[in-house]
Amino acid sequence: MSEIFELISRNGKARYGILKTPHGNVETPVFMPVATKGTIKTVPKRDFDDLGIKMIISNSLHLFLRPGLEIIKKHGDIHGFIGFNGPIFTDSGGFQVTNEDFLHSIKEDGIVFKAPNDGKKILLTPKMSAQIQNSLGTDIAMALDYCIPYGRSKRKVEKAVDLTFKWSKEFFSERNGIGFGIVQGGVFKDLREKSASQITSLDFPGFAVGGLSIGEPKETMFDVLDFTLDLLPDNKPRYFMGLGSPLDVLKGVMMGIDIFDSVFPTRNARHGLAFTSEGPLDLRKSAFSDDLKPIDKKCDCYTCKNYSRSYVHHLLREKEILGLYLLSIHNIRFMIKFMEDIRSAIKNNNIENFYHDVEEKYGKGNS
Ligand SMILES: [Zn+2]
Repeated sequence: MSEIFELISRNGKARYGILKTPHGNVETPVFMPVATKGTIKTVPKRDFDDLGIKMIISNSLHLFLRPGLEIIKKHGDIHGFIGFNGPIFTDSGGFQVTNEDFLHSIKEDGIVFKAPNDGKKILLTPKMSAQIQNSLGTDIAMALDYCIPYGRSKRKVEKAVDLTFKWSKEFFSERNGIGFGIVQGGVFKDLREKSASQITSLDFPGFAVGGLSIGEPKETMFDVLDFTLDLLPDNKPRYFMGLGSPLDVLKGVMMGIDIFDSVFPTRNARHGLAFTSEGPLDLRKSAFSDDLKPIDKKCDCYTCKNYSRSYVHHLLREKEILGLYLLSIHNIRFMIKFMEDIRSAIKNNNIENFYHDVEEKYGKGNS
């Protein structure tokens, strides 16, 4: 047992455990809604308890750029600023910088990017990323890594692996509090082995698998993910960044992932897609215009208790903000409840049957 993770039971490779953070304990496998800029889009904190949200992830670089650490420190820390006293993960922001428009260049020392607000060039170093996350009062900080885009040559991916190791060491020595190291290596298994042995040589309390779910075929992603997870220490929590569809999350759980995050529930809500216990529904379709049933009769969320599919369909068509809110809270509740069901299935040694049931509803290109 590590100091922050208690592994309680297993079913195959799936694990049920407890993650311990300065702001409370969380049962795993767990799904964290994404609050990049300090808010889960459209969802106020008063809904967190009803939805069962125990932990969220925010982006330290976004908050560093705006509103800035000074403003946040006036509120105490990130918990005071966003009004949530539960566990908060923060990402380094390295992934966003290297994958969005503002990347300038990658240096030995860190990532140079143009600040989106004023175009100023900023060098984000591993030490600075640790300091930002220290100042925010983050419960679990993610190391600065170099996630090289999919499709680059093996030589370039290996350079990214070595740079990630260098940065991880610098990050590790600067971070006070819990930090997770990130394994890179693209789709090359020997590089995954190299990166895993480098990163796990540092005594991080937990590890993440990075550099997947960035454009490679899904089959490759799961193959490399499964391979990489087996290289990580069994007694520490494992986090996979950016897997969000119910069936994919379940597959990840069955390979041994403990922590997930994704914008999938809220982004899909903005596109009118609802997750339900019977599979996904596109509520923009005219078939729902006079459908008086709730989105999901098995769901206990505010939306399903109070409104019809017809009403939500109407709001979405009229682009009413309430429609986005109602569908966002439903999708988040679905994912949180889905994780509760996954944890029960692990505890009852029933994950295989559970998987077949979900595959029927969400498989066949339906996820
Ligand atoms: Zn609902």
